[in-house]
Amino acid sequence: MRKAVFLDRDGVVIKQVEGYLDDPGRVELLPGAAAAIRRLRDAGFAVVVVTNQAGIGYGHLTEETLAAIHARLAEELSREGTKFDGIYYCPHTPRDNCPCRKPAPGMLMRAAEELGLDLSRSYMVGDMTTDIEAGKRAGCFTVLVRTGFGGSDGRSDSEPDAVCPDLAAAADLILARERASGDR
Ligand SMILES: [Mg+2]
Repeated sequence: MRKAVFLDRDGVVIKQVEGYLDDPGRVELLPGAAAAIRRLRDAGFAVVVVTNQAGIGYGHLTEETLAAIHARLAEELSREGTKFDGIYYCPHTPRDNCPCRKPAPGMLMRAAEELGLDLSRSYMVGDMTTDIEAGKRAGCFTVLVRTGFGGSDGRSDSEPDAVCPDLAAAADLILARERASGDR
């Protein structure tokens, strides 16, 4: 089974926008994010995005628009010589009480099953405590980054295992941790 690094999308991989991102033209990779993804994949990790997209449930964007946004993101990454191994999204609103909306771990569990991932050797990187809680509940090592909201959204007070300024630093930490533990 492969190890994975799960990434929240907004505020971790791409710039956090005001309101709901509903336009592929506004997709903007954060500095160093593509290189970090490439390094993690080169080290053997599956890199998988897990993103809450309640904007779909609220009717702010369609699944077609989201697909176009993710196609644009894939294009930007391929220009930098890398890609995601998967993108999972939750289209529900909090009122739907689904098992996939973070802080629930459903997207990580589903990815693990579909992609053959070992959650206990995997990582979750996010900019909100709801990301951290989802990672913890899935049994992953969790890293909070400061490039997005950089902390609590009031819905979870989960403590991360580590805090880093951005995804590039999180990749450094993950790769150093892997080297220190040998090839686990
Ligand atoms: Mg985020």
